[in-house]
Amino acid sequence: MKLEKYIRDIKDFPKPGIVFKDITPLLASAEAMQETTRQLLKTIPRNIDKVVGIEARGFFFGTLLAEHLNAGFVPIRKPGKLPYQTYDETYALEYGTDTLTMHIDAIQKDERVLIHDDVLATGGTAQAVAKLVEKAGGNVVMFSFLIELEFLNGKDKLKGYPISSLIKY
Ligand code: AMP
Repeated sequence: MKLEKYIRDIKDFPKPGIVFKDITPLLASAEAMQETTRQLLKTIPRNIDKVVGIEARGFFFGTLLAEHLNAGFVPIRKPGKLPYQTYDETYALEYGTDTLTMHIDAIQKDERVLIHDDVLATGGTAQAVAKLVEKAGGNVVMFSFLIELEFLNGKDKLKGYPISSLIKY
C-alpha cells in the first residue's frame, strides 16, 4: 500500500510559501491507518516505557503506538493547557519563539522513551521535546515520524538520536 497517496499537499497553508502535508485523508481510511501503524511499529525497538506525542497531530499515532508497544502515553502541549506542574522548553522559530510543556511527573528517571510526531520539518520542535524528556531524566531511544521533509535538514538538530520516518519528501 502506497501511503503517500493518502497525504494531501495544501499550498500556502497556514501561510504563504508553506506546503502543508495534510494527513487527514490517511486518518479517514481504516486500511491506511492500520498499515501506517504496522509500518511505524516495524522500525521501533521493543521495551519502550513511554511514547511521547507532540500536540496535536502527534497524538493520533502516538497513542496507537503506545497501545501496541504496551507503553504509556505522554502528551506534549502548548503553554497553559496542562493542568499540573510542567517543565517548559522555549525554542527558536523562523520569526520569534515557541514554548512546549510536559507534566513534571509524566516520565520517571531512566525510562525508555519514543518521541513521535507527524512531520519532521526543521527539527526545532522535536529537539525541544527531547530536552523536556531529558529534564525529567528519561532516555530518548528514538524519534519516529510519519513524514520527513528532508530538504529542511531537521536531522541536523537531532544528531546522536536514531530517527525513523516512513515517507520522505
Ligand atoms: P519543525 O519544528 O520545523 O520540525 O516543525 C515540526 C512541527 O510543525 C510538527 O509538529 C509538524 O506537525 C508541523 N509542521 C511543520 N511543517 C509542516 C508541514 N509542511 N506540513 C505539516 N505539518 C508541518
